[in-house]
Amino acid sequence: MVVFDLGKVLVDFDYSIAVRRFADRSEAGLERVQDLVNSPIQFDYESGLITTDEFFAAVRDGAGFRGNRAEFVEIFADIFSPMERMIPFFDRVKVAGIPTCVFSNTNEIAIGHIRDRFPFYSRFDGYVLSFEEKGMKPDEPIYRVVEQRTGESGDVILYIDDRPENIETGKRFGWQTILQSDEAQSVATAEKLLGL
Ligand SMILES: [Mg+2]
Repeated sequence: MVVFDLGKVLVDFDYSIAVRRFADRSEAGLERVQDLVNSPIQFDYESGLITTDEFFAAVRDGAGFRGNRAEFVEIFADIFSPMERMIPFFDRVKVAGIPTCVFSNTNEIAIGHIRDRFPFYSRFDGYVLSFEEKGMKPDEPIYRVVEQRTGESGDVILYIDDRPENIETGKRFGWQTILQSDEAQSVATAEKLLGL
């Protein structure tokens, strides 16, 4: 089976657009907004320790944001675009009848947007998302969730991710891994390993 990371593997994203739009509607300047986005609030949100309402309130109050929740969600959701080669590769994996799973450190706003906007997202066999499982890669417990949910383990799993620390944990589980830096390269490697 193939386990896909989401950000920078299946979808690209650019936070700088959201940071600029958010700063335009806030008392805080670009730098302060950037710091907020990189703060423990984001980690707590993706770990499922705080809800979207709590995340919104914390960022709004921290930045002096003048918009409402809907505007906030719109700004922080609209930063994604599908990866051009990986989505067609996912289609070929589906056609070959190979099971697939999404495995991502992510949050409710991002997933809501991606599910609404990109049809490929709804076609996976399994989903293991940090904010739902209350665990983050590269910590081991959420890798165990992947094995339990898919019923697979060891080198039957081919795992693609762009973060070295996430790949390291996958290797400790005995999974086959591809560290993605160049999209075309990881598609070529994956097709070879899968015999596609
Ligand atoms: Mg990623």
